[in-house]
Amino acid sequence: AKAAGRDTLRFYDPSMHALANERAALEEDMRAGLAKGEFELYYQPQVDHGRIVGAEALLRWHHPQRGFVSPSVFIPMAEDSGQILPLGQWVLEQACLTLAQWACDPQLAELVLAVNVSPRQFRQAGFVQQVLATLASTGAAPRRLKLELTEGLLLHDVNESATRMTELKSYGVGFSLDDFGTGYSSLSYLKRLPLDQLKIDQSFVRDVLTDPNDASIVRTIVALGASLGLQVMAEGVETVAQQEFLARQHCYAWQGYLLSRPVPAEPFVALVRGHAPA
Ligand code: C2E
Ligand code: CA
Ligand code: CA
Ligand code: CA
Repeated sequence: AKAAGRDTLRFYDPSMHALANERAALEEDMRAGLAKGEFELYYQPQVDHGRIVGAEALLRWHHPQRGFVSPSVFIPMAEDSGQILPLGQWVLEQACLTLAQWACDPQLAELVLAVNVSPRQFRQAGFVQQVLATLASTGAAPRRLKLELTEGLLLHDVNESATRMTELKSYGVGFSLDDFGTGYSSLSYLKRLPLDQLKIDQSFVRDVLTDPNDASIVRTIVALGASLGLQVMAEGVETVAQQEFLARQHCYAWQGYLLSRPVPAEPFVALVRGHAPA
């Protein structure tokens, strides 16, 4: 055997080899799974002032052998491999089809659907045209669609981001800044982007009652949103106490397990109907 401690040994580590194989297999499964209908959109209700005003669309993968695969596993892989482009387009199309369906029902017609957009997807040439074409072909109203973007994605090229957003915004598409507070500390870019909403990351909401730092971060984000004229939505709200804390800070928009986990379209619609005034 080769001498231990040699650098080269690392490259023959069988567990690393297995990991790479595993990854390649999963990537191939993703490609095939999209064609075979293994992906599904789930919907998590978003509340404002006690009413369900919309949902966040969250992707689910039902793998035939592995069972349920978490998006925190397959989304980063899809982003690396480029598979996020067809996958992201599929999500957008499903979301717009759902919106077009809801538009026919007075109880659902006002709902806004938030769709996560990955960096690679947002930056690809023709992204704006793709969104507009999807809206047009499905008949979904642009103002019912909200795109959730992350700081890293937007800051990569602020001018280009602003251009893309402004064009989509002129048709009525909304924009939310996801995971706010976890990324960059420079806030000057916030004024340059046509955002509608800041989303407080769930990592700050989780311990908001016990960690004074998280509490002051939440207060700061709410104040920042107010001063910039942006709606602030909290994610990951699991308890009444967290929701009440947010309300005391005048943050009335939230989503979280307290109301519902992400669920398939049908139970989501049932939930909306159950919440609607009689
Ligand atoms: P995210 O955009 O930050 O989505 C919020 C995540 O928090 C979701 O995890 C949601 O199920 C979870 N969550 C919601 N409420 C609560 C709560 O009260 N407590 C806790 N502990 N968690 C809560 P999920 O569905 O596993 O998605 C993970 C991430 O995968 C998302 O984070 C997003 O970055 C990505 N993702 C999911 N679907 C898509 C998609 O269609 N496209 C893209 N590009 N990314 C997606
Ligand atoms: Ca999101
Ligand atoms: Ca988030
Ligand atoms: Ca997150």
